[in-house]
Amino acid sequence: MSEQKNKKPKAVILGGSIAGISCAHALILAGWDIVVLEKSNSPPKGSLTGAGIGIDPLGQQIIQSWLPRPELLQEATLPLKIDQNIVTGGDKTTRVLTRDENFNFRAAHWADLHSLLYDGLPPEIFLWGHLYLSFCISEDQTSVNVEAKSLQTNEIIEINGDLLIAADGCLSSVRRTFLPRVKLRYSGYCAWRGVLDFSGKENSEAIIGIKREYPELGNCLYFHLGSGTHSVLYELPKKKLNWIWYVHQPEPEVKGNSVTMKVSSDMINNMYQEAEKVWLPQLVQVMKETKEPFLNIIYDCDPLEQICWDKVVLVGDAAHPTTPHGLRSTNMSIADAAVLGKCLQKWGVENLPYALEEYLRVRVPVITKQVLHSRKMGRIKQGLPLPDCEPFDLHTASPEDCEELQQKNMPFFSGVPFWAE
Ligand SMILES: Cc1cc2nc3c(=O)[nH]c(=O)nc-3n(C[C@H](O)[C@H](O)[C@H](O)COP(=O)(O)OP(=O)(O)OC[C@H]3O[C@@H](n4cnc5c(N)ncnc54)[C@H](O)[C@@H]3O)c2cc1C
Repeated sequence: MSEQKNKKPKAVILGGSIAGISCAHALILAGWDIVVLEKSNSPPKGSLTGAGIGIDPLGQQIIQSWLPRPELLQEATLPLKIDQNIVTGGDKTTRVLTRDENFNFRAAHWADLHSLLYDGLPPEIFLWGHLYLSFCISEDQTSVNVEAKSLQTNEIIEINGDLLIAADGCLSSVRRTFLPRVKLRYSGYCAWRGVLDFSGKENSEAIIGIKREYPELGNCLYFHLGSGTHSVLYELPKKKLNWIWYVHQPEPEVKGNSVTMKVSSDMINNMYQEAEKVWLPQLVQVMKETKEPFLNIIYDCDPLEQICWDKVVLVGDAAHPTTPHGLRSTNMSIADAAVLGKCLQKWGVENLPYALEEYLRVRVPVITKQVLHSRKMGRIKQGLPLPDCEPFDLHTASPEDCEELQQKNMPFFSGVPFWAE
């Protein structure tokens, strides 16, 4: 066989976050060579970057198939067997609105999941500290040339490959090249978020108090509903509590390329005061003891019909910016990677258009429904108007209305297809 025939196909992956490293795993398994371009200077190892993530059963299965030892995932996560929606009444007693004991997600810290996936990959495939600049398809249409700049030396490099995989997040520059008119949609609310590290403080008043009010922490994903607002609370490994509080506000103006806002101490103090009016004192205490809470601006995007072009494919948040209410971003990214890997393996690089076509046909129907359902769940839980029914009202909601709050209603909740019909 000629050398050319033996040569492995090569993909340039833009973005070294969850979608990018998931694609690296999936494509290496499919027999591809990989280069990952990432603008961050180094892998976020040992850092506390990010907060909590819920991994669905399919995501767990896929991640385990990529790890040298499947039990590593169990060790890095805590169970989230229960999905529960609760409300506190005027008499300060908590009422359960819905409870699903077959939820079977697992909770991870973003940085731990990232490390777990990163550690299973050859480090030499990563180009850290490299900012993607542009791409072009070769004149004979056989390859894609990607230009990037080293942020350390300002040197411009060019990498040639058979495929560019854009895993560059919800503000994707590659998506903008193809779809310049596509804009993110502001949801109408932002999310205060934080992770309280309580190691060594297990017997503190704050921890005893919060575990009394939310006794199934460590096994349960709590959604606590208020009037026109809701919060989320679950435990992470290594003695951490992850909390989120969604608040209505006009769209903030952000500088730079981020959906996370820098917050001042005045904003944080104001958040505590507002929280005292809405939440149980034990949850407010957890918020107050959390170092550096931050504010995420909640966006999504009307689902895209096109997520691949000739030698370029979108994956992860680049392909489907979504609101967080259905715990979809990370799970959809992992599934995108697994499906893309299988399609490339099935068709081979010589049939790349068929492989990308199958990826599109498998993923677009799923992500379309999941993005729109997450949007709907957010609007229900925030008491916002809905196109087909009255806004959800805690005081008048029937048991059937409450059923809508459950995660298990997410389309394709029990699994997604891997092949086109
Ligand atoms: C540091 C970090 C922490 C996060 N923490 C959480 C969390 O705690 N909980 C949660 O639910 N979600 C978190 N997310 C978001 C979560 O990873 C995504 O919503 C989801 O997993 C999909 O991931 P993604 O890889 O598609 O996008 P992203 O995670 O947004 O990753 C996109 C990557 O592309 C890189 N990139 C973008 N543009 C360029 C460019 N021009 N050149 C080079 N590189 C580029 C970015 O630096 C980034 O690493 C975090 C994301 C990041 C980057």
